[in-house]
Amino acid sequence: MLENKDQTRTPVSALGEFKLIDQLTDNFINKQPSTIKGIGDDAAVLGLEKQKMVLSTDLLIEGIHFDLSYMPLKHLGYKAVMVNLSDIYAMNAMATQVTVSIAVSNRFSLEALEELYSGIKTATDLYGIDLVGGDTSSSITGLVISVTAVGFATEEKIVYRNGAKANDLLVVSGDLGGAYLGFQVLEREKQVFEVNPNNQPDLEGYTYLIERQLKPEARKDVIKLLDDLDVKPTSMIDISDGLSSEILHLCKQSQVGCDLYENKIPLDPQVISICEEFKLDSTTVALNGGEDYELLFTISQDDYPKIKANPNLTVIGYIREKEAGCHLVTRADSKIELQARGWNALNDQE
Ligand code: ADP
Ligand code: MG
Repeated sequence: MLENKDQTRTPVSALGEFKLIDQLTDNFINKQPSTIKGIGDDAAVLGLEKQKMVLSTDLLIEGIHFDLSYMPLKHLGYKAVMVNLSDIYAMNAMATQVTVSIAVSNRFSLEALEELYSGIKTATDLYGIDLVGGDTSSSITGLVISVTAVGFATEEKIVYRNGAKANDLLVVSGDLGGAYLGFQVLEREKQVFEVNPNNQPDLEGYTYLIERQLKPEARKDVIKLLDDLDVKPTSMIDISDGLSSEILHLCKQSQVGCDLYENKIPLDPQVISICEEFKLDSTTVALNGGEDYELLFTISQDDYPKIKANPNLTVIGYIREKEAGCHLVTRADSKIELQARGWNALNDQE
């Protein structure tokens, strides 16, 4: 995990907006050839010959999208960038730039914001992205972060949600359900801590899950891998809300149905054991948990030999004609209609 440091507290008001922006963005260095002008003018200038720009934006609000009682600011900065890069990769494009806008109340010191930006810096360095702008404002309470990510790809490369065809294979990267369970573990420890502040969080055995929640990785590696394997998905989406709702998005936009096989859904051993501990059904968690930031895509069956040996990719089902509908084929071989239930469904189960 990312380290945290404890230090003095300088009020943001002591600096003023321009000094603050300088202080936070000073050590970011541009790396991308498509960054023609970064921070410092009225607008950034970006471009590449013969490529299309891909652009996505996300808004993160304290108390709605994150809880700073267990989300260190450094991780929040990292995750805010990751969730946006994930959207760019889900178009089969390479992410190249981000802008970061923040609104902060006086609860946040310069040092706290430097923590946030050190997570942003780690993310941009690891993924080779340039920070090319943003905006800075005060807020009455709490923290708001908005990240916009930009990427480029040739027109032929870009993959949309609407290209899946009957008989295509449904494929997912990595494994599912971990981020939701990490959230459950952190929530439980927060309650234990609130009952008695001397209780130290007992997070041993949960490290993978907590890392999935606090430090998700966008699957740039999978986009590179598909390129190396010479596989262009017919449709693609990133998994931010949970497998079942993302499958339904792909199927709806492509006007197809699908069969998802319960016994094929990739689960980490820690997910299986913690589901037992929390008395949760691991399939429900994988289907509805969300925040895994894996890629879900469809490929033509002709491409199956190219991906079949790869440990990062799992075939989890087949695309069907629209009339067949969207179903989960259970371990007991019965068919259940897929529903986009999201986190609420998990809460109902408790
Ligand atoms: P303007 O008044 O035109 O909005 P600003 O003074 O807000 O300009 O911004 C000056 C420069 O600093 C611009 O390039 C802007 O994109 C960048 N910038 C402002 N806030 C941030 C931030 N929080 N993170 C990164 N860059 C920022
Ligand atoms: Mg501004």
